[in-house]
Amino acid sequence: MNNYFVILAAGKSKRFHKKIAKQFCKYKNKEIIDHSVEKSLNSSLFRKVLVVTNNVNHFKKKSYSKSINIIKGGRERSDSSLLALKYLKKYKPKNVFIHDAARPNFSIKLLKNIAKNLNKNKAVVPVISSKDAIKYKIKNQVYNLNKNKSFLTQTPQAFKFKELYNLAIKEKNKVSDEATLFINKNYKIKFIPGENKNSKITYLTDIEIPKTYFGIGFDIHKLIKNKKLYLGGIKIPFHSGLEGHSDGDVILHAIIDAILGATKKKDIGTFFPNNKKFKNIRSPKMLKPIISNLYKSDFSINNIDINLICEQPKVSKYRNRIINSISKLTSINKNQINLKGKTVEKLGLIGKEKAIACEVIISIIKND
Ligand code: ZN
Repeated sequence: MNNYFVILAAGKSKRFHKKIAKQFCKYKNKEIIDHSVEKSLNSSLFRKVLVVTNNVNHFKKKSYSKSINIIKGGRERSDSSLLALKYLKKYKPKNVFIHDAARPNFSIKLLKNIAKNLNKNKAVVPVISSKDAIKYKIKNQVYNLNKNKSFLTQTPQAFKFKELYNLAIKEKNKVSDEATLFINKNYKIKFIPGENKNSKITYLTDIEIPKTYFGIGFDIHKLIKNKKLYLGGIKIPFHSGLEGHSDGDVILHAIIDAILGATKKKDIGTFFPNNKKFKNIRSPKMLKPIISNLYKSDFSINNIDINLICEQPKVSKYRNRIINSISKLTSINKNQINLKGKTVEKLGLIGKEKAIACEVIISIIKND
């Protein structure tokens, strides 16, 4: 196991637009660079891991194991790569893997597959086919690149150390990756399947996670005779209905307040005051513009959790119908909605079937 793993992390991240270099940004709970460091260690394939960086100080606060060395990089990627090879020479490595820190999503399986293929080859490079059609231009003529004959190279790329070192030390031009050194000399490279998820993080938007917001809603209405009972937008046979300026649908009102809470838009009374215009309004008509504004502002709903607090009617009997109705009104999937029935041990006004209450929690995300 005379393998060495080099992580190139000296790039300036010109297209990233953030104060700290991209490789030190947090991504999936750790710095981008640490995904590569940890995976290379966990693979147990390497005698040493070498990080090449222009910010050696940044690594002083890390408690890396002794098998990780940090060295200063150069101006260009190829300079840093050559510095790494020169540094490693004293260890007499048999194989060297070169990897860009900006690719944190490769798998250990890929590392092992590369290592296996390196037994019989001098250079192993993972490749994937392009998802987009590629054009190229010669003078003013534009051509289509034949997708079946072209592919994109990824890292880690692995080489017999001696071969790569000899090529790199003689190369005068700045090459974009180590495979280029082999290609320029017409040396054989073993191309193996790469991983679509192993894409390079280039823009801040590549790692941005949409923001999640939560909202809470509560409502209670008095039960009165000679009124129809509406819950979650559907009519339910019952001895009384809910009193109110509208149809008194506590579930839809609590959902509206939860949405307004999550989007910081005050409360249901602000949008539907007790005036003539809204007298006897059906609650789905109130929910509709609130939902439509939510989606127009590019939010989407993760889930809605509902507690319906009443002695009667029994929630279990109407659960599916109510969830169906809410799913239609909110345009979300039924499996994103949960409805729980809660009795109050016959205590108080709710226990005596004089009122029904509801509480809702909603989780939404902002998509842009
Ligand atoms: Zn209400």
